[in-house]
Amino acid sequence: LLIQVLLLQKFCRNEKSFKPFHVSLLYKNPVHVVDGKMQYLFDEEGKRYLDAFGGIAVVGCGHCHPDVVEAIIDQTKKIQHSTVLYLNHAIGDFAEALASKMPGDLKVVFFTNSGTEANELAMMMARLYTGCNDIISLRNAYHGNAAGTMGVTALRNWKFNVIQTGVHHALNPDPYRGAFGSDGERYAKDVQDLIDFGTCGRVGGFITEAIQGVGGILELAPGYLPAAYSSIRKAGGLCIADEVQSGFARTGSHFWGFEAQGVVPDIVTMAKGIGNGLPIGAVVTTPEIAQVLTHRSYYNTFGGNPVCTAGALAVLKVIEKEKLQQNAFVVGSYLKERFTSLKEKYEIIGDVRGRGLMLGVELVTDRQLKTPADAETVHIMDQMKEMGVLIGKGGFHGNVFRITPPLCFTKEDADFLVDVMDYSMSKM
Ligand code: PMP
Repeated sequence: LLIQVLLLQKFCRNEKSFKPFHVSLLYKNPVHVVDGKMQYLFDEEGKRYLDAFGGIAVVGCGHCHPDVVEAIIDQTKKIQHSTVLYLNHAIGDFAEALASKMPGDLKVVFFTNSGTEANELAMMMARLYTGCNDIISLRNAYHGNAAGTMGVTALRNWKFNVIQTGVHHALNPDPYRGAFGSDGERYAKDVQDLIDFGTCGRVGGFITEAIQGVGGILELAPGYLPAAYSSIRKAGGLCIADEVQSGFARTGSHFWGFEAQGVVPDIVTMAKGIGNGLPIGAVVTTPEIAQVLTHRSYYNTFGGNPVCTAGALAVLKVIEKEKLQQNAFVVGSYLKERFTSLKEKYEIIGDVRGRGLMLGVELVTDRQLKTPADAETVHIMDQMKEMGVLIGKGGFHGNVFRITPPLCFTKEDADFLVDVMDYSMSKM
């Protein structure tokens, strides 16, 4: 292991000898970050980058937000321990604050270390509660990388050969590439068909993102979730909202992504931005559903430990204090408008979509055929990086820019980002 670490350091320090063994690094010449401050990252040479992608890991507060750093340090000085052996105020305080952000009867919180764990737990609870094994998820979804969550994930480049019995993948309500355009109810009919023709008529659960992140910032067609939830509930199943990327005020119009579709899930999962970079995830559900975990011992050593929950509580406070949801709405709407204008200028932009500070720009070489411009996507990202702007990419074809900055992003940052993208496209 030591040798591996030393080799890794050697490769990272010397870019020329770097072998791309790390499968998900964004750039051929990776950025080696050493410092972060709010919406900026700094590399070893002190070069500053505007971080328009880190928001999926670091919520609104931005990198190293002083309030969050202080909360972590304070708690570390007091006590850091496992979550499960004793009571501690930091854990309860955050659970209470988080539950207060939830609609309906979603008042019981379980903590995990990651989004994968949160979704695994949510699916297990749905199966235990309903006594049914079948789970429906959407094609193009990403829900994690353990056996169960990889099963419901439906993007071949993120799936190993896992056993996925009882998993059904429904038609994706994709307004850009889907067969039924923006007609959410027509796509939802496929959920009913899967129940009728792929199961005994009863299901355990249904898991979806409100805006697919890894899948290329794809907002589910309007009207989809109410219709699909209705079919699932008639079949006895529970509806799980995966808010790992779209939660915590990112969409601007709402605190949670599912709220834009006017539904209330039975279970909500979250991670990433919840702790501004700390490893913490959560599952929130109703007291009735939560009961299923009292039949056995459920134990997660570090899920929601005092340091992570103290940091996460500080995150929630910063979102309120700095009005970051409003900022995501105002700056996100402005940024989307600017991308839409860019689309008028460049044929290569096939679609601009998303909500708040969760935006996608899909590149195609032919607008009619929607041929993915994957090589061009990589090229423009590289050019933008050279000019000091970091964005992400995703989608099945890897041809969608993912713009998910920390929620403290300003209009000036938005202008800089679009100007740099404009310049890179003009030089193609
Ligand atoms: N759900 C969604 C929607 C995600 O985007 C991810 C991570 N990309 C996960 C779950 C898994 O989260 P983690 O990497 O923390 O396990």
